[in-house]
Amino acid sequence: MMSPCSSHALASTLPAGTIQLESTVTSIKQTEDEVTIELETGWSQAFTHVIMAIPPRLVSRISFHPELSETTKSKLADTPPWMAGQAKVLAVYDRPFWRDSGQSGQGMSWAGVLQEIHDASQPGGLAALFGFFRLSAAERLVFDQDELNRRVVDQLVRLFGEEARQPREVIYVDWSSDRHTATVQDGVPLTDFPVYEPIALDTAWEGRLSLAGTETDSLFGGHIEGALRAAERVVEQL
Ligand SMILES: Cc1cc2nc3c(=O)[nH]c(=O)nc-3n(C[C@H](O)[C@H](O)[C@H](O)COP(=O)(O)OP(=O)(O)OC[C@H]3O[C@@H](n4cnc5c(N)ncnc54)[C@H](O)[C@@H]3O)c2cc1C
Repeated sequence: MMSPCSSHALASTLPAGTIQLESTVTSIKQTEDEVTIELETGWSQAFTHVIMAIPPRLVSRISFHPELSETTKSKLADTPPWMAGQAKVLAVYDRPFWRDSGQSGQGMSWAGVLQEIHDASQPGGLAALFGFFRLSAAERLVFDQDELNRRVVDQLVRLFGEEARQPREVIYVDWSSDRHTATVQDGVPLTDFPVYEPIALDTAWEGRLSLAGTETDSLFGGHIEGALRAAERVVEQL
């Protein structure tokens, strides 16, 4: 979920071929001195150590040999990813017309479909209003995409005037339906910020398998900074 620019900058420092995109790990098996990962496609490769950097709840979709203990499985299942039930919408305009009347483009609402709105215009480029939803994943599903977009635009018109009526485009991305981010459980909105901390895997996997990812960082868990800190922590432990 990093911006394409920051992902590319990080990736460019790695030797060619290190990153394999569109590769879903389905199985992790331990042999005497190696760990073999297998992808959905059937491709497999052995490594001396494997670091998983995925939301803890998604670990249950991978089969392990030896199997993870029930205690570890419960701990993973009880650690929700932050904001995975969220969706973002971007209404794109030719120009930031709201600024003509001195409006910032920022808004907070407890009435419309969007709760938090920001001016996401690019300097010298297209203008846009961006919003996070007040509606939960289940509430969003009640509407088809056209109806949801219409409600978004209606709210922007109420806040910023009639010029908001005709966006060039409305772009909607819903993480709650992204199988590589969220589970069904994550559609239920979190009422409190979760307590995140490193998750130790079973002793049978010690020295072979680790879990990084933002949800294992006790200081900035849930945020990008937490993912970076977790990566450093796990690498230092190798
Ligand atoms: C809507 C939204 C808004 C956010 N806004 C902010 C913000 O403003 N600031 C901020 O700091 N953070 C924000 N976050 C949180 C931030 O995106 C996360 O903290 C960060 O992406 C976590 O990084 P990560 O590397 O731990 O995991 P992820 O970014 O979730 O990366 C995990 C990767 O593993 C892949 N994966 C999953 N399962 C498998 C598998 N079986 N095999 C192979 N690959 C797999 C996924 O495709 C994904 O690429 C936001 C999150 C959301 C959903």
